[in-house]
Amino acid sequence: MTAATLNEVLTAACDDKSAVVAFVVHGWEDAKAYVEAAELTNRPIILQAGPGCRKHTPVAILGQMFRHLADAAKVPIVCHIDHARTYEECATAVECGFTSLMIDGSALPLEDNIALTSHVVALGHRHCLSVEGEIGAVGYQNGAQSSLTDVDEAERFARETKIDALAISIGNLHLQTDHTTTIDLDRLRTIEAVTPMPLVLHGASGIDPAMRRLLATEYRVKKFNIGTEFRQEFSRSLRGFLADHPAEFDRLKILSATIAPMRDLAVQVINNLAP
Ligand SMILES: [Zn+2]
Repeated sequence: MTAATLNEVLTAACDDKSAVVAFVVHGWEDAKAYVEAAELTNRPIILQAGPGCRKHTPVAILGQMFRHLADAAKVPIVCHIDHARTYEECATAVECGFTSLMIDGSALPLEDNIALTSHVVALGHRHCLSVEGEIGAVGYQNGAQSSLTDVDEAERFARETKIDALAISIGNLHLQTDHTTTIDLDRLRTIEAVTPMPLVLHGASGIDPAMRRLLATEYRVKKFNIGTEFRQEFSRSLRGFLADHPAEFDRLKILSATIAPMRDLAVQVINNLAP
């Protein structure tokens, strides 16, 4: 199967009242685990390369890796760039084979965010790719503060930019290590009432799985970005393997031990958001 666009998988998720997991990839082992989970559950997924991953590994290699996995997979796999901040980063991602772009202008004044996002939408749509934009700002645990999404701004931003998916800030927070997020459901309902756009929540590791399911089935949250939960599982399984095999020094054996536990967790997370 060839790589899918965000638009394709989110439209299908709107139709069957499900949501798609956007897995934050850090390397080969986790990417492989996520695709194995997608095939086991027969569900589409999004592989996404964020700024930290792109700093560690050249984006051209990530693009090739994602496309290789997507082309061999039996289910749709979206190859997504997460939190690009400039048009140039998005243009490079297109050249590197990504099928979906997130342009994050959330730190800019509204007019500038609309202008930058519209510019990237023109690029993406010219190449038949999808674009996610963000309005309001999703903060970071022990870092930048959130700015909750203003409903009127969300309506205008979605309409004027012609994006394919809208990331919003309604209590969600990046990098949370437990499920303690409180989602502002009233604000979510009001946003849903002013735009038909599929909605995205970053920082979904902090959202309780039962709440994620409610948001997928009863609301229009169609993409959940999940990273921290899997970084925790990676470390847990790695530490466990090293403790059990103190003499083992083979890098491939050590890292390969993380794949099955990450895959098993990914199956649970995907199934929780399936119809
Ligand atoms: Zn994010």
